[in-house]
Amino acid sequence: MAAMSTNVVQNVFVAQNRQIATQYQRDSSAPNTCKLLPFHGGKLAWTGISSMHMHTWSKFHSGFANRRPIFCNAATTTAVPSLDKVDFLKLQNGSDIRGVAVPGVEGEPISLTEPVTEAIAAAFAAWLCDKRKADATRPLKVSIGHDSRISAQKLQDAVSRGITGAGLEVIQYGLASTPAMFNSTMTEDEAFFCPVDGAIMITASHLPFNRNGFKFFTNAGGLGKPDIKDILDRAADIYKSFTDESLSQSKKRASELVKKADYMTVYTSDLVKAVRKAAGNIEKPLEGFHIVVDAGNGAGGFFAAKVLEPLGAITSGSQFLEPDGMFPNHIPNPEDKAAMKAITKAVLANKADLGIIFDTDVDRSAAVDSTGRELNRNRLIALMSAIVLEEHPGTTIVTDSVTSDGLTTFIEKKLGGKHHRFKRGYKNVIDEAIRLNAVGEESHLAIETSGHGALKENHWLDDGAYLMVKLLNKLASARASGNGGGSKVLTDLVEGLEEPGFAVELRLKINQNHPDLKGRIKLISRENSRPFREYGEAVLKHLDNYVASDPKLQKAPVNYEGLRVSGYGGWFLLRLSLHDPVLPLNIEGPTDADAVKLGIAVASAVKEFPALDTSVLDKFVQGS
Ligand SMILES: [Zn+2]
Repeated sequence: MAAMSTNVVQNVFVAQNRQIATQYQRDSSAPNTCKLLPFHGGKLAWTGISSMHMHTWSKFHSGFANRRPIFCNAATTTAVPSLDKVDFLKLQNGSDIRGVAVPGVEGEPISLTEPVTEAIAAAFAAWLCDKRKADATRPLKVSIGHDSRISAQKLQDAVSRGITGAGLEVIQYGLASTPAMFNSTMTEDEAFFCPVDGAIMITASHLPFNRNGFKFFTNAGGLGKPDIKDILDRAADIYKSFTDESLSQSKKRASELVKKADYMTVYTSDLVKAVRKAAGNIEKPLEGFHIVVDAGNGAGGFFAAKVLEPLGAITSGSQFLEPDGMFPNHIPNPEDKAAMKAITKAVLANKADLGIIFDTDVDRSAAVDSTGRELNRNRLIALMSAIVLEEHPGTTIVTDSVTSDGLTTFIEKKLGGKHHRFKRGYKNVIDEAIRLNAVGEESHLAIETSGHGALKENHWLDDGAYLMVKLLNKLASARASGNGGGSKVLTDLVEGLEEPGFAVELRLKINQNHPDLKGRIKLISRENSRPFREYGEAVLKHLDNYVASDPKLQKAPVNYEGLRVSGYGGWFLLRLSLHDPVLPLNIEGPTDADAVKLGIAVASAVKEFPALDTSVLDKFVQGS
């Protein structure tokens, strides 16, 4: 059976190359129409693809290599004149790509057009070929999935064209979750063309309807920032070389070569198996539990029918499970107040044991207990820490930088673990946990207040559905051991977590056109492409000095991002946003009056920086 599937794949590839080679042969008599492998400045733009092609062609079509220079010289002819100029690097958002994919919002023109998307996908294919040094016996395979956004289909088609145009195989999964896409690089199942060599998720997580973007995976995990920059650099070159003919050729090829698979069936059955196994191989370990799901019309609706119900749970009262890219009910985001209110209401109205909520692409999640208590942000971290520390006593929990002091006390004093508070950004947190393990400090959980959480046992994949599976395991095992039903077992696990009486996040914007910014930066350095960063750093340095002179304030001895300071029974963190001219300020205190005292300290220190817009801070300080 396995051998047969391999043959099928090989045959597809032979046929595919024959078609490409035939195309080139045809083109040899009409050189000006040869644009499959565009040239730049005498060098192939798709270096990875070209080397793979040459390798495979030399195996299957040995005569082709000799003719290549003739075809490729012809490819320098006409780029598509109608394509807009695009600053590809502006599409980078940390380790993701994000842009505007549909019109309808004033001042937000489309940046993720179909040709831009096709160029990015082709660039990923080239990057992947370079990384994988493609095996000549088969083409590389890339899976593509998407969330519920209205631009999903259009972008999926464009991504497919970019990948197939590069000579790689495409398997479309349709509506999928981000973690499922990563999973497809590890699944061993030839019937579903797995494992794939690379995976692309088309999503902009919780952002508004007009946005979209891409996340990329190999079996080593999600791509990091340098890889994304590399891909965008390659995409800019590929884009410049597009011609009308190359674009229409790629359309034709994609329609012939794209395969489809219902991979979510594989992924969800893995989740079901994980819960059954943890419960001692009981077929329906959640029998009788009433669990409501709120997918916010994102991609997470599968969790009710494909995970909870096979495990025996009752899911009536679940809401917004149907995908709808206009998100008519609430933003699918477990950090959003309205979203949490909606799932809480559903839990109480249905007298459910537990509520589960996902973000649009299901890499983030949160829960609500039967009393309506929200288990998100610091509470979700505390809960997951309690579960993981039961399994791995003493382990280090890596979190983002805005976690509360009470969480540290809870993890270290009550649970006996170690809290390593790192930086914002799920990739930063996950990479830090991996690094700690590599240098001999055991860590099993990396989790952000945003609801991104990754476990070592799950290949450091940040999977909102898997986090919820860990909660379900706990429910099932507690009942099996006679510790009652319902979500009380979860609520009990976070007992003793001290929570701030007051918490706020204020975003202080840097006005990049203000003369103070320009004047000050001239003094610091004349050449800086992102002067707001230097200005922001100057603000932080000044605040640091201010704190040192105030005996009521103590700077955190270990800190990896911005300036974190304790005082008045609470703390504040001022940090510089990674991408935007903004300094987010988080303040937590036992009361709002304490938080205001911390706010006043910050306001007094930063008033010497007129390019920093402190109006929200001033309002907070005065409004109390
Ligand atoms: Zn997400």
